[in-house]
Amino acid sequence: MSELNVVAISEAKLPLDPFVARHLIAGSWRDSCSGETFERTSPSHGALVTRAAKGNAQDVDAALQAARAAFDDNAWRSTSGKDRATLLLKVADLIDRDREKIALLETLESGKPISQARAEIEGAADIWRYAASLARNIHGESHNSLGDDFLGLVLKEPIGVVSIITPWNFPFLIVSQKLPFALAAGCTVVIKPSEMTPATTVVLGELLIEAGCPAGVVNIVLGYGDPVGIAMTTDKRVDMVTFTGSTAVGKGIVKAASGTLKKVSLELGGKNPQVIFPDADLDSAVDAVAFGVYFNAGECCNSGSRIIVHEDIVEEFIARTVSLSKDVPFGDPLDPSTKVGAIITPDHQQKIDAYVQQAGQDGADIRLGGGPLQVPGLSGQFYKPTVISNVKAEMPIAREEVFGPVLSVLTFKTLDEAIALVNDADYGLSAGVWSENVHTCLEFARKAQAGTVWTNTWMDGFAELPFGGVKESGQGRELGKYGVEEFLEAKTVTMRIGRTRAPWVETRTK
Ligand code: NAD
Repeated sequence: MSELNVVAISEAKLPLDPFVARHLIAGSWRDSCSGETFERTSPSHGALVTRAAKGNAQDVDAALQAARAAFDDNAWRSTSGKDRATLLLKVADLIDRDREKIALLETLESGKPISQARAEIEGAADIWRYAASLARNIHGESHNSLGDDFLGLVLKEPIGVVSIITPWNFPFLIVSQKLPFALAAGCTVVIKPSEMTPATTVVLGELLIEAGCPAGVVNIVLGYGDPVGIAMTTDKRVDMVTFTGSTAVGKGIVKAASGTLKKVSLELGGKNPQVIFPDADLDSAVDAVAFGVYFNAGECCNSGSRIIVHEDIVEEFIARTVSLSKDVPFGDPLDPSTKVGAIITPDHQQKIDAYVQQAGQDGADIRLGGGPLQVPGLSGQFYKPTVISNVKAEMPIAREEVFGPVLSVLTFKTLDEAIALVNDADYGLSAGVWSENVHTCLEFARKAQAGTVWTNTWMDGFAELPFGGVKESGQGRELGKYGVEEFLEAKTVTMRIGRTRAPWVETRTK
């Protein structure tokens, strides 16, 4: 039997012509002012997938002008929640209709498996429907206990023009965690998808137009962080930036936005721990560890990239994890049986490998993998499932986001020690605990510094539940009712009832 479960090239056909992606500005599809384009080739097959308009500051200027005008003319923000919900529901139906097309483009640009891409597009449609329910439920507060002569109102108003900047690892899902909530709130937007994965955001723009979204409400500018992202975060016409991506770029965005004091909401990286106690259901825990670290080839903010295992069971747990890792189907993303596809770029593959080799030099043990994976028939880059034990808390492999299919194993003796290891991190996105003891799980959930805690599960998500990080994993929340609150501003209206106000100045002329 082969050492690893490798899926060779599938029968599925690649599209003959590249997808042509243009900017969406003021309701029409446009080439760049400069006429420049850029291309994206599939990280698994090396085939040209997309040719996209390459935006610059002039294109952003036009998009911001359109978004600002569409907000300031009041037409969109004064639509009823019912009308906004109707639009979002239509978009959800169109996403379902075009799921195959969107999933294929997502797979070809990102390298993720087609079956996973289909599930993500289905999940995205569900989020659009959930956001539609919130659009009809935006309300503030009334204060009727301020005394007989006062009534206080807190109105919720859309924050204004929003810049949405997204990464390459979940392009359609992440734009769907932001855009329908911004629209539900009554905001207008300019979106910049990653230069690696522009196509599915453009398809979403097409669906928005088909659903009847008014011109200028949603604008899309394609291109690179510099100059497109920079212009979208510094321009004074922007009221808020919502960004998902790396912590380093996120910190830069906070600085860029500070010139005009925009609101900034950030979903950033993670180094997410799962703690495994001896009394856990180990079959489920091993499976969740494999899912946590190999899902999306580990290119996942929620990657369960470090596990902290009780000393008494660590050797057994590593042996079981290594054995199960060998069964995970890595290979051609177009084959529906594949669970782990390609790595996004050759540079990123090298970065992953450098972390692994450094861990070896630091004294950790590479128990499985630890290098590039050759997939028969495919020219793209793939990385072997990799398990590293004897990892110490101070090693880079235990602290930094590797963003690859690489698991670090640390050990603990007591709950306090495990929690200290969990919290000894710059990041705080998610954390998990495996134990049959509810007291252990609850104490862990209370003490772990993370935006999400999973007990006896990993990476389950719901449109109803908020998602986001603490510490250097971000600020603000997406999804749940908080998802729409992010895009709303509170306005206080204080009303005096009747002519009861005692004069501040007594008039001297009688
Ligand atoms: P990235 O930070 O390199 O890029 C993200 C986006 O920012 C891209 O669209 C990019 O073009 C743009 N950008 C780059 N420089 C910019 C600048 N100076 N100003 C404005 N925009 C700029 O991230 P990535 O490599 O695309 O994605 C991987 C990272 O995203 C990982 O760190 C991962 O953890 C994180 N991520 C976080 C979450 C979450 O919800 N917390 C989800 C997915 C990914």
